[in-house]
Amino acid sequence: MKLSNEIKHIFNAISQTKVGYIPRDGQLIMSNQIANMLEQRESKVITIEGGTGCGKSLGYLIPTIQKMLQHNQNSTEQLSVVIATANVALQQQLIHSELPILEKAGLNFNVALAAGRGRYFCLSNAIKSLENTNFDTRETQLIEELIVKQGNENWDGLKDNLIDDNPILEQTWPKVSAQNVQCKKCPNHDNCPLIKARKAIDKANVIVANHALVWSDLTENRILPAPDKTIYVFDECHHIPKSFRDSLHKSLKLSSFAKLFEKDASDTTSIITSVVNMDEATPYISANEISLLMTNMKDGLRTLKNYAVFMIQQQQTINQSELVNVQFLEQDIDIQIRFEIDQRITPTIAQIIHHLESAIRWLNQQKKLSEQVKKELLKAMSLLRSMQQAYDTFVMLTQVDSTTPIAKWIANKSTHTIDPIFNSVYIETGHFLKENLFDKSHATILTSATLRTLGTFDRYLTQVGLTFKNTQLLCIQSPFNYKDNAILNITNSMPIPNLQNEKEHTESIVKKIKTDFKHHLGGLLLFSSKRQMSAFIEWLGDDILNHCKLQYTDSRQNLIARHKQDIDQGKKSLLIGCQSLSEGLDLPGEYLTYVGIAKIPFGDISSPIDNAEAFYCRKNNGNPFKDIMLPDACSRLIQSTGRLIRTMECKGSLAIYDSRLVNKQYGQLLLNTLPSYRVQVS
Ligand code: SF4
Repeated sequence: MKLSNEIKHIFNAISQTKVGYIPRDGQLIMSNQIANMLEQRESKVITIEGGTGCGKSLGYLIPTIQKMLQHNQNSTEQLSVVIATANVALQQQLIHSELPILEKAGLNFNVALAAGRGRYFCLSNAIKSLENTNFDTRETQLIEELIVKQGNENWDGLKDNLIDDNPILEQTWPKVSAQNVQCKKCPNHDNCPLIKARKAIDKANVIVANHALVWSDLTENRILPAPDKTIYVFDECHHIPKSFRDSLHKSLKLSSFAKLFEKDASDTTSIITSVVNMDEATPYISANEISLLMTNMKDGLRTLKNYAVFMIQQQQTINQSELVNVQFLEQDIDIQIRFEIDQRITPTIAQIIHHLESAIRWLNQQKKLSEQVKKELLKAMSLLRSMQQAYDTFVMLTQVDSTTPIAKWIANKSTHTIDPIFNSVYIETGHFLKENLFDKSHATILTSATLRTLGTFDRYLTQVGLTFKNTQLLCIQSPFNYKDNAILNITNSMPIPNLQNEKEHTESIVKKIKTDFKHHLGGLLLFSSKRQMSAFIEWLGDDILNHCKLQYTDSRQNLIARHKQDIDQGKKSLLIGCQSLSEGLDLPGEYLTYVGIAKIPFGDISSPIDNAEAFYCRKNNGNPFKDIMLPDACSRLIQSTGRLIRTMECKGSLAIYDSRLVNKQYGQLLLNTLPSYRVQVS
């Protein structure tokens, strides 16, 4: 039977098994377009902007899973579907709500969640932690509780499935998580939540993951099926450009790395001596050779630090601030720094890596290892990771003839001392995605409520390395009645929100919020910078401040829980934060009837990455404002305003405290791309 006919049958079956369900037009269009793409194979990628409420999840789940099942019935080569989301809430929704709907409708598939190691409880780590006498009794008690909980099998070991009401969970979790542990020959292997979860992935043909896990899987731990055997769905795919770029960001705090070679490098020396010299396949390294490696590293890092500190001090004088970034643009990396890295540091790290790698390989091949050797092996692996991270950062910093521009900078994030952090990150990452994911995948579906900026897909496609030729495009309107249910207020008389006017602008928001939020229970106020948010809070009277839940004072999860609790009790609650607070925020009905936005969310001009992107845009005869800043601001504005109307029943008010929306030509462009809110200018 044709896939499109099978899809029709599945929608009918859902209508019969799910009370009150009527397929939405958007869902049907989306399913059929995806089915077409999967059948015709004219392109491997489809990019879909599906307005909020159009029913995206079922729209992509039905065709992809049915196609996979159909294919697997007729072929020895088995396909899987990997659905990657940007947040845990959507993963939970898929696993507990949407996928069971398909199972009830008769589709027969195996689901598994693929989460990063750090989200799993490690029993061995927990037992080892209890030996630590430095823990306070509350920590010890929590670890004991977690061990019992996991043993009783009423918890799957995932941090997300713990009731997060223990105030010390966040500080304790890294000590009991499965991040950075060596699982080979672990006595708790059979009862381990991580191992059980990984086995479930091997048996599954529908895997729910997050974007970051897919990126790391492309390069390192292969726990997901190979791309050519996978139909990928990236939900909330507007996050991809940033999350993929972040995954390629190399960063190295010089002081932490240098510690490995300080105090006569006793730890590092002993690891190399003990582990490397166990390896019969590697030539023995004499104490003299090791000492030479250590001296080389110490001297190289000391010289490097001196150069970096000097440059940071110069920048501090210019900026009149301790927290600075020394960015390398026109002249690339400083010549003295390059010389030190190229001539001394990277060759020495390469030698250490070579010795450690061959020794670890040899030890891993041995059938039996004593407890002592196992401990040494773990230390050696951790040392190897540090060396590799440093090597990658230094190599990228000194890379000159790359066709891909790289943002390179030294940061100082400390106010009481100068502690250089070396950073490098590729600016354009689209071609990596195209070559390593889209081209290799069986098929990819990209979807989000917000992809077009200023009315086109251009900016998004450039960022992810696609063109109109290699992806199909589809837009599905939101079914919500924005015109009748939401009013957008723009105050024309407020000071222009630039840096010079920031104080006056902030003061006028303080005045406006009193009237704008007066008749609402639940609200959200968003700032473009922490600086303006802090000033606003300082000047806000206690009458409103008492209702506020402030970002950076509590975890996001707790803030939202407290906000909902207050609304449920009929109390007012105003969430205040920056853009990141609004991402993925889903507070329907009374939980959110007011959304305020301090100003058009242009990017952070002090960010070295944004700065480098603008530099290379100009170099290629582009216009950074038109080509980057405005489309990105448009995307953020649509995302932020989109928090207000989440269901057919939602109603409320938006306020944007930025007169440029009505007084500047680009403001009009931005207004035209927002949903059709009723606009009121006062
Ligand atoms: S198998 Fe690995 S994650 Fe599991 S308990 Fe052992 S060391 Fe921890």
